[in-house]
Amino acid sequence: MTAAAAGRLHFTLEATAENSSARAARFTTQHHEVLTPTFMPVGTHAAVRSQRREDLLESGAQVLLANTYHLLLRPGLEIFEKFGGIHGFMNWPRAVLTDSGGYQIFSLPGSRTLCEDYAEFTSYTDSALIRLSPERSIEAQKIIGADIMMALDHCVPSTVEHAAARSAMQLTHRWAQRSLAARGDSPQALFGIVQGASYADLRIESAQTIAQMPFDGYAIGGLAVGESSTQREDCTASVTELLPAHSPRYLMGVGTTRDLLEAVHRGVDMFDCILPTSLAKQGVAFTSLGRRDLRRAAYRGMEGPIDPACRCYTCKTYSIAYLFHLQRVHETTGWQLLSLHNIHFYLRLMRTMREHILAGTWTNFYRAQRDVLDARDSYGKPARHVTKAMLRERKRKRGRYEVIVKEDVGYIRDTVSGEVMHPGSNSALEAQCLYVEQSRLLERLSLPPADTSPPGGSASPASSDLSGSSAEPLVVWDVGLGAAANAMAAILAVENLGPAMVRPLTLVSFENDLDSLKLALDHPGWFTHLRHPAPRALLRDNRWNSPTSPVGWLLLDGDFALRKFEAPPPDIIFFDPFSFKTDSALWTLQAFRELAKACEEKSTELFTYTYSTSVRAAMLAAGFHVAKGRATGPKGETTIGLSPRAASAAHGRELLGQEWLAKWTRSDAQVPFGSAEQDDSWRAAILAHPQFKA
Ligand SMILES: [Zn+2]
Repeated sequence: MTAAAAGRLHFTLEATAENSSARAARFTTQHHEVLTPTFMPVGTHAAVRSQRREDLLESGAQVLLANTYHLLLRPGLEIFEKFGGIHGFMNWPRAVLTDSGGYQIFSLPGSRTLCEDYAEFTSYTDSALIRLSPERSIEAQKIIGADIMMALDHCVPSTVEHAAARSAMQLTHRWAQRSLAARGDSPQALFGIVQGASYADLRIESAQTIAQMPFDGYAIGGLAVGESSTQREDCTASVTELLPAHSPRYLMGVGTTRDLLEAVHRGVDMFDCILPTSLAKQGVAFTSLGRRDLRRAAYRGMEGPIDPACRCYTCKTYSIAYLFHLQRVHETTGWQLLSLHNIHFYLRLMRTMREHILAGTWTNFYRAQRDVLDARDSYGKPARHVTKAMLRERKRKRGRYEVIVKEDVGYIRDTVSGEVMHPGSNSALEAQCLYVEQSRLLERLSLPPADTSPPGGSASPASSDLSGSSAEPLVVWDVGLGAAANAMAAILAVENLGPAMVRPLTLVSFENDLDSLKLALDHPGWFTHLRHPAPRALLRDNRWNSPTSPVGWLLLDGDFALRKFEAPPPDIIFFDPFSFKTDSALWTLQAFRELAKACEEKSTELFTYTYSTSVRAAMLAAGFHVAKGRATGPKGETTIGLSPRAASAAHGRELLGQEWLAKWTRSDAQVPFGSAEQDDSWRAAILAHPQFKA
C-alpha cells in the first residue's frame, strides 16, 4: 500500500487491487473530502435535474458537476460574484467540479470559430458572440468557485482523420499550459485533459504530454461519443497506465454502471454521466438485479421496491407497481423518484467498489458484477413495443385491404385503388337505409309472392333448405359482399320480423375476394354488425341457415359474371361492389345486359349507391328501367334499376324522365363504361327506351 500527497488535493492512494488497476484513494477539496472511486451527479445548470439538494446529500454525492459554458450564459458570472460562487448560489456544501466548456463549444449546434488564442461561438440564449480562451475559461471557473476546474480543450468527433485529431490534440496541449499559467496561485484544483480521438498513438502521446504538466488531476476526454465499449476500455487502460499514480483520474461523460465497473478495473477514480437522470425520465432504473425498464407491462401490478437491495427513499416508500403507474401517466414525480433511486444506486455502487478494493476482494466482486450490472431485464414483454393497440395495428391489413377507423367505426379500404367501402357514412346505417328499407324487403317478405310461379315448380337448391315455408322464397342478390354490411343488415332486420314473415328469404352473396370480410371479422369492435354467428359460418361452409327464421344465406365466391348463373333469379339486387375504377367488369354494358337477362322473368329491383350518368346509361341500354334512389350520407341521390315487370308494378318509383334524357344527351359521360366506340347500339336503345315514351 502506498500513500503520497500531491498538490492542492492532498491525494492519498489507499489501495490498489491485485491483478487489476482498480484503486481506492481520497483527496481533499476546498469544500469536501472525496473518497474514490466516486460518481459525480451532473448539475449542468447548477441543478441536478429533478433532484433536491437534500436528496443529493442523502445519496452520498461528494462532488457535483456543473458546466462553465452554460453558466456563463445563464445566470452569468455577475450572479456568482454576488452570491459568493456556486456554493452560495445553490447552497451546496460539498465539492463542485466545473467542465471548461470545450466539449459544449464544439458539440452544440451553432457557428463557432477557432484560432490559436480562443474559440468564439454564438450564445444560444441571446445570439451574442462569446469568446472563450483558456484564460477566460479559468477566470470564469474561478468566479463560479469550482473546487476542481478543467482546462479548456479542443474536442473533435472520434471519427475525424488522424491529422485533424493530432492538430486538435496539440492545441489542447498548448491550451493546457496556458490554463495552468492562468490558474496561478489560486487554491482551486485544475485538471488537464487527455485527447487524441480514437487513435491509440495520439492517446498515448497526449497522456505522456499532459502527465508531464503539474495538474492536480488528469481527465480522459472525448470518449463516450459513439465508440464501442471495447474500444473505450482499451483506450482507458492504455491511458491510465501513463498517468501519474498519485493524482485522481477522471473519465469524462461515462457511463452505465457496467462501464463504471470496467473503468474502475482499469484505474479510473472519478466519473460523471447524465444516464441516471436521463434514463429515469424514460422509466429505466439501474438496480442490483440489472436494468429494469418500467415500460414493461409485467411491472403493472408488481409489489415490492424496484430494487430489493436498495435503501433509498424511493425504494423504502414505493412499490414497483406505483412507479410503473407514474411512468405510464407521465407524472413528473415518477421521473424524480426514479432519478433519486438511480443516483443513489450509482453512488452506493461506487462505495461498494471502494470497500472491495480496500478489503482485497475486488477481483471476485468485479467478476461477479460484470454480468449483473446493466443486464437487461426480462420481465415480460416490453409494453411499449407490443401494446394491444399495436397488435391491432398489425392486424389491420389483409391481402389488398386495410382497416381504417374513424370515430370507432371501421372502414375497409382497397389499398390498390385507394377506394374506401361506404366512405363518409356508417356502413350499417347506409345498408339499412339504401338497401333494406328502400327495397321494401320486410314488406315483400310479409306478403305472398306477387309473381305467381307454378306450384311445386322448379325450387332452387337454396330454397329447398328452407323447410319452414312452402311459399316461393324471396331471392336477394348481394353483389359485392365486402364486409357483409348489407347482408347482415338484411339478416338482422329479418330475424326481428318473426311470425309476420310469410316468405322465406334466400340471400345470395357474391364476392371475388373474401379478405375484406375476414379482415373486418378480426375487428368486431369496429364492425359491430359482424357480432353474429352468420358471417363466420358463411366463411366456413359457404352457407348459413338461421335457426330462428326461414332465412338461408349462400356464398358464391369468385367471378360474378360466371357464378351468377348458379343462383336462383333475384327479386332484389343489392348492387354494391367497389366502383368502376376498382371493379370495372361489374359496371359494363355487357354486365348489365346479363343482369337484365337474369331478372327478365321477375319483378326485380336493383339498388346501387351510384348515380353516375354512365352507369344509368348502361342500365337503360341493357333494358332496365331506371329510377332515382334515396339520398344517403354525402350522396344527394342513388339509383334503382327495375326489370320491365317491376316497372309495370309501379311501386311509386320516380323514373328518370325527359329532363334526365336531355341532360344525358349533353353529357360527356354518355357512353356506358367499357363500351367500344364503334358500337353505339346503346345510344339507340336509350333513345328508344319505353320509360321515355310519354
Ligand atoms: Zn432505491
